[in-house]
Amino acid sequence: MNILVLNSGSSSIKYQFIDTDNQDALAKGQIERIGMSSAVLTHTPKGKEKIKIVGEILDHTIAIEYVLAVLLSPNHGVIKDKSEIDAVGHRVVHGGEDFSGSVLITNKVMEVLKENIELAPLHNPANIKGIKATQSHLPNTPQIGVFDTAFHANMPPHAYLYGIPYELYRRYKIRRYGFHGTSHRFVTLKAAEMLGKPYDELKIITAHLGNGGSLAAIDRGVSIDTSMGFTPLEGLLMGTRSGDLDPSIVTYVMGKEGLDVREMNALLNKHSGLIGVSGESSDMRELEEAVAEGDKRAKNAFDLFTYRIKKYVGSYIAAMGGLDALVFTGGIGENSTEVRKAVCSNMKYLGLELDLEKNNSAKEDMDISTVNSKAKILRITTNEELVIALDTEEIVKGHLK
Ligand code: ADP
Repeated sequence: MNILVLNSGSSSIKYQFIDTDNQDALAKGQIERIGMSSAVLTHTPKGKEKIKIVGEILDHTIAIEYVLAVLLSPNHGVIKDKSEIDAVGHRVVHGGEDFSGSVLITNKVMEVLKENIELAPLHNPANIKGIKATQSHLPNTPQIGVFDTAFHANMPPHAYLYGIPYELYRRYKIRRYGFHGTSHRFVTLKAAEMLGKPYDELKIITAHLGNGGSLAAIDRGVSIDTSMGFTPLEGLLMGTRSGDLDPSIVTYVMGKEGLDVREMNALLNKHSGLIGVSGESSDMRELEEAVAEGDKRAKNAFDLFTYRIKKYVGSYIAAMGGLDALVFTGGIGENSTEVRKAVCSNMKYLGLELDLEKNNSAKEDMDISTVNSKAKILRITTNEELVIALDTEEIVKGHLK
């Protein structure tokens, strides 16, 4: 099947056109600066040069029109007719408590997505815009929603409830949801394949480390806990997000600095994390360069980042009562030998021993632990778009039966 995968943000749309039979992206690209006079579309058809188009793209409907136009273009396109798009898979950030898997988008589903806007005010409105825009151009093509939260939908109450009055959970659905579900799910399945065992017999910790990052404890195929919570702010130290902190700090800083809710939110989401601690950069590559040059604050940020991952790994081993594999993925997890080394240092007593040579040379999916390591350490390239495409195919086929 040919699936168009769309990831719609407030001012950007990323897309991939995937042939699921060969699990291959025939084209990929993105539109940035939607709503501005100089929006930029970059499009890369498989095996051909990347092209760039700059122009005015005022909204998501026009943006999708552009995406379809480049896919159909005689010079840069990969299809001759819109009917060659069998289905569209949309990444949707927040499914709330309503979705534990991917779904065919119906009017009813759209209503529920709107109800969940309050839970993800920055993401869900953009996802909804992307779906509506696509429906207007491809009214007869099935649209599927794949949720970041769905994979974590079966966590037990002791992992998803917070220690606040239960009424607040009832009234506002305040609970842990978790994110990056498509990535955690993809690398879990890949890890099981690499270990040659059924995934529902394994205890796996997945560390998705990109600009945002989260860990998940996957106990025999079920995500039983994950570090992001009610929003993506909780858990690990991230590029610009604080992750875990004493909640009292929020009210204290608001009082001391005279910040309102919006400003405090921005401080924790945009000006904290690696950039906040280091004052240098939110980008791990740049931070590692600064550490190598002897920058002390950059070193503090790096240590805080890796120490927190280490603490989560320890706690998730305890939560699952054992571990078969620790997986590193995402831009940092896949590429930073230094981060993997720091996280895995002195973990032999927990059954984790990194092979330093393999760690240094790992560029593809591979086991980077020593032969004696009781639990395996795996470096796996994530592919969220492929998961969305495969889910979309499965649901469409199910509905065609
Ligand atoms: P996003 O969460 O936006 O999808 P990515 O998964 O692409 O982000 O991860 C981006 C992060 O990966 C950045 O902090 C970047 O510095 C880091 N990264 C990429 N390559 C390397 C590398 N070779 N060494 C260390 N960090 C890297």
